[in-house]
Amino acid sequence: MLILGLESSCDETAAALVTGDRRVLSHALAGQEAAHQPYGGVVPEIAARAHVEALEPLVAQALAEAGVRLGDVDAIAATAGPGLIGGVMVGLVTGKALAHAAGKPLVAVNHLEGHALSPRLSDPDLDFPYLLLLVSGGHCQLLAVEGVGRYRRLATTIDDAAGEAFDKTAKLLGLGYPGGPAVERAAALGNPRAIAFPRPLKGSPEPHFSFAGLKSAIARVVGQYSAEDIAASFQAAVVDCLLDRSARAIAKVPNATAFVVAGGVAANGAVRGALSALAAEHGLRFVAPPLWLCTDNAAMIAWAGAERFAAGFTDPLDVPARPRWPLDPGAEAVRGAGV
Ligand code: ATP
Ligand code: MG
Ligand code: FE
Repeated sequence: MLILGLESSCDETAAALVTGDRRVLSHALAGQEAAHQPYGGVVPEIAARAHVEALEPLVAQALAEAGVRLGDVDAIAATAGPGLIGGVMVGLVTGKALAHAAGKPLVAVNHLEGHALSPRLSDPDLDFPYLLLLVSGGHCQLLAVEGVGRYRRLATTIDDAAGEAFDKTAKLLGLGYPGGPAVERAAALGNPRAIAFPRPLKGSPEPHFSFAGLKSAIARVVGQYSAEDIAASFQAAVVDCLLDRSARAIAKVPNATAFVVAGGVAANGAVRGALSALAAEHGLRFVAPPLWLCTDNAAMIAWAGAERFAAGFTDPLDVPARPRWPLDPGAEAVRGAGV
């Protein structure tokens, strides 16, 4: 089985070819850092236009690098949400056009399902069910991953996502955009115990997250401490919260085969190290995708497409693009709007 995957939900445009037996034949990616840098964050209109310009050449590049033609693929998988709607539409419409032109089925992929299943692309031994900490730019959730399309949300953030907290911290410290890697680099040179930042919701019985308070706490000390000490102390606080909340969730999924982390923040070394130790403490296998598979890419979309296609899911060509699309609609209804 051969799947072409397309990703365009935020500020990475990407195309990849992945096989049903987990071979990544190619993955082409264009970031938009330079275009958004002057604004300190992603500007949706600029992102959508950049996706329009970048996507077609990336598809051609991915096909060429894999040494295959469009006619060779079994299905085309495109991110259909959640994300910046302009960007999502570019990728989804492109996927529909390619599917129609080549007479191939379309698989509309939830970007979060792309992150959630990405560890199964890099680790062939990862079986359902597993406990997933999904930490990205727009989300911070603990999920019981029970199968393809089967997610039970145990916890979510009541305000900011973890990646968002990294990005806001970087902005406050003048470290530029994108913030996560910059904060991690600065943190490596600082003292994590320099400032006792709050650990929001630590110790609370439900494993939810909150990071907005950290931002105000950082704003209060900017200028009083070095950027390195603030970054290191901030990162230590985030790691501490992720650990405490995850430990609560581990108890809620006693049949989990592994504790898994995915999403852009999973690329952070301190986060990976701490979570791996937590898993070991609980006698659980720890799985984290390689760094390139943590941040947005099209291989994870192609892989989620492969998993969905193998499970018999395809979508009609009028499937809509969705700016919001929870993985677990039940949890959304209970908790009201929100991430
Ligand atoms: P979502 O997946 O929720 O829709 P997104 O697609 O924008 O959001 P990802 O691409 O998965 O998010 O992750 C990007 C986020 O990860 C950004 O907030 C970025 O700052 C953060 N990030 C990337 N690398 C690191 C790192 N090394 N340390 C901490 N955070 C990081
Ligand atoms: Mg990005
Ligand atoms: Fe993402």
